[in-house]
Amino acid sequence: MEALTFDYGQRHKKEIKCARKISALRGVPHQVVDLSAITPLLGESALLGGKEVPACHYTEEAAKQTVVPNRNMIMLSIAVGYAEARKISKVYYAAHAGDWAIYPDCRKSFIEAMKVAVRLATAWNLVELKAPFVGISKADIVRMGLGLGVPYELTWSCYQGGEKPCGVCPTCIERAEAFAINRVKDPAVRPEE
Ligand SMILES: [Zn+2]
Repeated sequence: MEALTFDYGQRHKKEIKCARKISALRGVPHQVVDLSAITPLLGESALLGGKEVPACHYTEEAAKQTVVPNRNMIMLSIAVGYAEARKISKVYYAAHAGDWAIYPDCRKSFIEAMKVAVRLATAWNLVELKAPFVGISKADIVRMGLGLGVPYELTWSCYQGGEKPCGVCPTCIERAEAFAINRVKDPAVRPEE
């Protein structure tokens, strides 16, 4: 197993540090792919610093601010190329049910089409695309992770670029709800600091 993280100019670069830490903790080889050269081509998403990150739950308007055009397809294309070169047979990405309404490249229809494209694009159909969380809510993912001992204190969701989660952006709110449904305190949120 190997892990790839993409630096696409996101303001929340803390997620890259978190990915490094978690990969090291689990002994998974990890690389950061520098896509910052294409950031200027991707418009003015709030995630790229072109607009303010909305301070509210995911609404249609707030979601629009956070879309990075075709982001997942760009990343998946690179991951699939890497997998083929390394003779790795499966590429996993973690779109979940809550992303469905917001982001076109997290929808089942996109994933099914991408699976076909990946099969056709790779030699001898070597690489298979997997998206195991596509029909699963964030609350259920939190529950599964609790059972597996995921070190949630090292994980990152917030769209802001701060050292601590802002608590008011759409993904902070969604994460807080997912932990609340499980009646568990999010270990990444430490208000006393
Ligand atoms: Zn936040």
